[in-house]
Order: sequence, then C-alpha cells, then structure tokens
Amino acid sequence: MGLASQSRLFTPAKYNGLPGLPFPGDRLAFPTKDQQADYLEDYAARFHLAVRPSTAVTRLTHDGQRFHVTAGAQRWTAANVVLATGACHLPKTPGFAADLPSDVVQLHSHTCRNPAQLKPGPVLLVGAGNSGAEIALETSRSHDT
Ligand SMILES: Cc1cc2nc3c(=O)[nH]c(=O)nc-3n(C[C@H](O)[C@H](O)[C@H](O)COP(=O)(O)OP(=O)(O)OC[C@H]3O[C@@H](n4cnc5c(N)ncnc54)[C@H](O)[C@@H]3O)c2cc1C
Repeated sequence: MGLASQSRLFTPAKYNGLPGLPFPGDRLAFPTKDQQADYLEDYAARFHLAVRPSTAVTRLTHDGQRFHVTAGAQRWTAANVVLATGACHLPKTPGFAADLPSDVVQLHSHTCRNPAQLKPGPVLLVGAGNSGAEIALETSRSHDT
C-alpha cells in the first residue's frame, strides 16, 4: 500500500539530495517516490557510480589482506567494505497473531500492496510510524480504518 503512485517523501527536496548534486526543483516540495528514484539514477549516472541493482551479496570473507565479496556467480575483491544493509528488512509479527481467528485477514506492511488485499469491513492498523500512517491514509479511502 505504500506503493501507490502518488506516494511522496515526508522530507522536502532540500533534504533529499546527496553530496555534489542538489535535488532539482522547489526545495520545499515533497518529491514523489518516482522523482526520488529518478534523482538516484541521475546521481549514479552523473558520477559514473558502478551501481549493481538486484544483486544480493551472499558471502563476505577476509583473507588477512583483502575482502572477498560473493553475489551468486559474481565475485569482487576490495581493500575496504562498507556494510549498509539496513535495519528493517525482516518483518516482525508478534506471536499472538497466530491466536487470532482465521477469518481475520492479517497483513504485515512488508506484504501490503493495495487495499484490494483486504476483505470488506473495518481495518485495524497497528503501528503509527511512517508505514502505518501511509497505509492508514490509503485504506481509509475504502475501509473504516
Ligand atoms: C514508508 C517509509 C517512508 C519513508 N520516507 C522517508 C522520507 O520521506 N525521507 C527520509 O529521509 N526517510 C524516509 N524513510 C526512512 C528511510 O527510508 C530510511 O531511514 C533509510 O532508507 C535507511 O537507509 P539505509 O541505507 O540505512 O538502509 P536501507 O534503505 O534499508 O538500505 C539497505 C539496502 O541494502 C540492501 N541489502 C540488504 N542486504 C543485502 C545483501 N545481502 N546484498 C546486497 N544488498 C543488500 C537492501 O536491499 C537495501 O537496498 C522512510 C521509511 C519508510 C519505511
């Protein structure tokens, strides 16, 4: 549900740029997700960054001198490695979720795509962070949320 085409960042453009290339346009506007993605692509192109999207690193070792990075069939060696794999990729569902009646549809934000996944009837959203607020905005258009 956070994937709606009109999804916008909650930080204005002036905070969304990276060093060396200010975010284009009105510095106080809230960019759409597509504008932010375009900016990142432009940034990588402008600075000739060798970004490899959709490449999951599966192994990292050190031989005492250099690091060896494996991603499927691809391999690299490097003197330095920065781990920036994020902190929020594993969905966490509380244990009591398994005790709820089976006719209650339960979705973690990780698997939410659009309100069509929900049954008719009211929606209870647990968690009022950014994901929760955006999902509530979207479900409230079609469901009592
Ligand atoms: C709904 C929502 C809206 C948000 N809106 C804003 C906003 O408007 N403005 C703002 O400033 N912040 C916003 N944030 C917060 C922002 O997204 C995070 O703070 C930021 O993405 C954290 O950056 P990160 O680089 O630490 O981790 P991530 O962005 O999580 O990046 C980690 C990357 O590492 C990759 N990765 C993980 N494991 C591997 C592996 N084994 N091999 C290769 N790659 C791997 C992941 O695929 C991912 O691309 C929002 C967050 C959410 C959930």
